[in-house]
Amino acid sequence: MAEKRDYYEVLEVPKNASAEDIKKAYRKKAIQYHPDKNPGDKAAEEKFKEAAEAYEVLSDPQKRQRYDQFGFAGMQGAGGFSGGGMSMEDIFSHFGDIFEGAGFDFGDIGEMFMGGGRGSRSRGPRVRRGSDMRVKVRLTLEEIAKGCEKKIKVRKLVQCKDCNGTGSADGRTETCPTCKGSGRTVRQQRGIFGMMQVQSECETCGGEGTIIKNKCPKCGGQGVVRDEEIIPITIPAGVMGGMQLTVPGKGNAAPRGGVNGDLLVLIEEEEHKDFVRQESDLIYNLLLDMPTAVLGGQVQIPTLTGDVKITITPGTQPGKVLRMRGKGLPRIDQYGRNYGTGDLLINVGVYIPERLNKDEKKLIEQLQDSPNIAPGSADKKNFFQHLFGI
Ligand SMILES: [Zn+2]
Ligand SMILES: [Zn+2]
Repeated sequence: MAEKRDYYEVLEVPKNASAEDIKKAYRKKAIQYHPDKNPGDKAAEEKFKEAAEAYEVLSDPQKRQRYDQFGFAGMQGAGGFSGGGMSMEDIFSHFGDIFEGAGFDFGDIGEMFMGGGRGSRSRGPRVRRGSDMRVKVRLTLEEIAKGCEKKIKVRKLVQCKDCNGTGSADGRTETCPTCKGSGRTVRQQRGIFGMMQVQSECETCGGEGTIIKNKCPKCGGQGVVRDEEIIPITIPAGVMGGMQLTVPGKGNAAPRGGVNGDLLVLIEEEEHKDFVRQESDLIYNLLLDMPTAVLGGQVQIPTLTGDVKITITPGTQPGKVLRMRGKGLPRIDQYGRNYGTGDLLINVGVYIPERLNKDEKKLIEQLQDSPNIAPGSADKKNFFQHLFGI
């Protein structure tokens, strides 16, 4: 699989480019690599799609922010971090917005970019897109450490089986009499430069180009019904609470055979009984009893892959941090790839007993006058220097 290029790089705009600059840059690329201008040229088609995907993200303030923050990891979810899942149909369906206000007569653009205007029906009328669905997924640190598969039950709009999503009881649709199937109506309007053709969405058919006379009783002509679906989601290792993954095409179905919306999966982290997460590191608090801190010994501590024994050296001070390399969580880069693993940091404390019986008290009292019990001035300096840095 070819490596994905940075979206800003694709459109050749700076990271702080304005919405207008991004639109202009995309317009340029779309014209340059348009399939009608480069028939049969696969490389041009790829560039055309690449630019469309970049524009899709960078033109949406929310998606752009997510991309800036998480890179591709914030954009894609299941099925690895492969292509953006945009079809040519999707791309063309957005063209109206791109060229609006661009100083073009929309009629010409239609001819140029909608694949031959009146003659071709497939690209002309607007392609409907189902709405995106949002779900939350709560994950344990164990699941995050390895990555996991989740099956999520969602109630969403799916294609109506009775009418195969057409919305028509008899399977028939008719060409809209108002717009003759183009999905758009044209009227003449006087502008500063003389008469202009202004196109707008056809009100009779809502831009679809077709109407249904005999509506499907189950879906009322919508072509979609609400139903439950179980969707498998692949969660890559190392994700973080607050990240959002996109599963393309798994959102709501569009009325009457359009393009499905996306499923947006918001990651939440379950609190762990032993660990606190800090990026890719895990923190574990270890409270030693006094004799172990003084004499040293072995203690058992948990990790995400099971308990391990660690050695406490004699004379371990409270505030010491032990580091177990590679026992944290996988690091994830902006492309959703793993690079290395964080550490497990063990904060060491020493428990000073609060209630002692007579015998215990006696033992401690005996220690009190012993020569190695009281700290010297160097010990004091070291201790606070280490603990508080002063
Ligand atoms: Zn119409
Ligand atoms: Zn139906």
